[in-house]
Amino acid sequence: MTRSVFVINAGSSSLKYQLVDLDSGAALASGLIERIGETTGEAKHELPGRPKVVEQRVIPDHEKAFGWVLRQLDQHGPALDEAGIIGIGHRVVQGGARFDRAVLIDDDVAQQIDDLAPLAPLHNPANLQGIRSARATFMGYPHVAVFDTAFHLTIPPAAHRYAIEARIAAEHRVRKYGFHGTSHQYVSRRMAELLGRPLDEVNTIVLHLGNGASATAVRGGRSIETSMGMTPLAGLVMGTRSGDVDPGVIFHLHRVAGLSVDEIDLLLNKRSGLLGMTGTGDMRDVLQSAEAGIPRAVEALEVVGHRLRGTVGAYLAHLGRTDAIAFTAGIGENAAKVREVALAGLEGLGIVLDPERNAGRGERRISADGSAIEVWVVPTNEELEIARQVAALVDAG
Ligand code: ADP
Repeated sequence: MTRSVFVINAGSSSLKYQLVDLDSGAALASGLIERIGETTGEAKHELPGRPKVVEQRVIPDHEKAFGWVLRQLDQHGPALDEAGIIGIGHRVVQGGARFDRAVLIDDDVAQQIDDLAPLAPLHNPANLQGIRSARATFMGYPHVAVFDTAFHLTIPPAAHRYAIEARIAAEHRVRKYGFHGTSHQYVSRRMAELLGRPLDEVNTIVLHLGNGASATAVRGGRSIETSMGMTPLAGLVMGTRSGDVDPGVIFHLHRVAGLSVDEIDLLLNKRSGLLGMTGTGDMRDVLQSAEAGIPRAVEALEVVGHRLRGTVGAYLAHLGRTDAIAFTAGIGENAAKVREVALAGLEGLGIVLDPERNAGRGERRISADGSAIEVWVVPTNEELEIARQVAALVDAG
């Protein structure tokens, strides 16, 4: 009998879903609904080995979107009563200092996710909308919230406190939370498996490089430092986000350049990073332009590499002893050039890439045989991690 979890990632105008088979880890079905609430929407439903169902249609709200998903499951499979769904997993971006693990959703938990909305105004309300609609659609199933921040709640105060007035920080819950926790947890655990050693003995630096990017220092399976902060804007250079800038830049842009706070928010979140530096936020295009010698792309790649090297260096110091560095997500898994520039010149620190292995594909070691610290590509699977956390909770209760 199949056992599966239906995993949901709800955005304000989008809905991503995957039905995950717990035994094989494979997707039994997946889909994406976009432009919910707009005049034209698009809905896709996919089954392995079959042509995608794609429909252009108006989808007024999340509940209607779930209705569409149910119809697809009904018409194209897998049928709900045959899929062996044991629970529904919801990705929730911000769990604050409250949620250090996945939880069963009840009205109280839903209220607390709502209370955390000021910390993630773009994400938590959308996640909650997804939860409410899904609870109305998939009645009778346990619903579980899996938080992006939860894995990072083990980060010690020395690393998560900002050096600002304590009263203000406490009153407004200003501290580092960190994000992409599900991915960092999955990859660091997989890394220990690949090294053939117990998780609590392995220290790993995980570099999750996608459109959003973050690095985490993981000691014995616990996050001790991460590059994103109170919000996902901090740290590495990303597709459209600046990553770290001197906070004084914000005052300067406001007072001298005359930009409003909302304009600066938009600038740093949506028009910076690779996009701001080169005109495209897609790393494939940046790499192509850099290859062709276009100066701003070459320079952007140098900025990306410099920021990554500095972060790796800091995390080597925080961990004291590092066993492995793991690259993951769209760029981390596919862009050999980015991995090369990120670790260039670190041979003296015991990090030596093997160019041939680096140019390969799939899950593999990419460091040279003599490298004191192993370097790996470890494809992430956030849906599977969410599904496993849902199963662990459901099975325990
Ligand atoms: P998200 O954070 O949206 O989940 P992904 O993990 O899918 O993002 O990563 C998207 C990024 O990965 C994009 O910058 C894209 O250009 C990059 N990427 C995907 N495939 C490749 C590739 N073959 N070579 C270089 N970059 C790639």
